[in-house]
Amino acid sequence: TAGVEAAAGTVLLGRYELGGLLGRGASAKVYLARDLLTGRSVAIKSFPNPRAGGDSGGDQPIEREAAILRRLRHRHVVRLHEILATRKKVHFVLDLAAGGELFSLVDASGRMAEPMARHYFRQLVSAVRYCHARGVFHRDIKPENLLLDAAGDLKVADFGLGAYSSSDHQQELRHTLCGTPAYVAPEILSKKGYDPGKVDVWSCGVVLFVLAAGYLPFNDASLVNMYRKIYAGKFRCPSWFSPSLRHLVRRILDPNPATRIDADGIMSHPWFCDGATDDDIVH
Ligand code: ADP
Ligand code: MG
Repeated sequence: TAGVEAAAGTVLLGRYELGGLLGRGASAKVYLARDLLTGRSVAIKSFPNPRAGGDSGGDQPIEREAAILRRLRHRHVVRLHEILATRKKVHFVLDLAAGGELFSLVDASGRMAEPMARHYFRQLVSAVRYCHARGVFHRDIKPENLLLDAAGDLKVADFGLGAYSSSDHQQELRHTLCGTPAYVAPEILSKKGYDPGKVDVWSCGVVLFVLAAGYLPFNDASLVNMYRKIYAGKFRCPSWFSPSLRHLVRRILDPNPATRIDADGIMSHPWFCDGATDDDIVH
């Protein structure tokens, strides 16, 4: 059974009292919950238990996501506290990102001013650099997976398509087709194998563009045409981008992964370093 009915209307899951639905993705539902021991709020990501179906092969996607999350401890990455398994479900107890999605902060025209975009882009890049240094690649960086905590700081969520490098994973890791069309790097489309770090950098560039522009850099009603634009690296920056932001975006959305800027390069780019005290003007 998924939980124990306690007082009327209350569902308990171990020491957690389940609350309302926070969101859902392709693989799971995420609920608000309260830790009855500490009084703290958490998020519980619930998956159907793959073992319920009988077969339970070695490398289940849920196990992989858990293994990745266990490796990560960073202020801008959602942290896994524990895993509860019942016969039908597997529940990840996670840091609550109480502030909702990063994109809720866009203004009436659907975008952010550059200093604010820079503030969150810095937090994103610091999380991505940390993950890469730990051998973890997210592979699905996009707005729905970028959340905010109660203090308004960015939390990268959903490592469901993530990969970690170990020698036996290396082959498969570089050939798995994954991501979300508008955020996917061109070298993934060419299916010749890729460097997963460069792929994450590309998606961060698409996110940065969307934050500051209010629309996608590569978009088309036809997926084939969208892929064509991505492959050619064809996009236009809006008139309001500063020259320095234009330069950085072009360096990130470089269709050639060999010449594309990497996370360290981003950190020393003038736009990224500009106004070191911007952080103070956001909250
Ligand atoms: P999936 O792997 O199925 O895509 P996600 O981990 O992306 O699932 O979670 C689905 C949605 O639930 C997210 O887009 C977000 O809105 C919400 N969510 C996920 N994790 C949290 C969290 N830690 N705190 C608050 N909301 C969350
Ligand atoms: Mg998701």
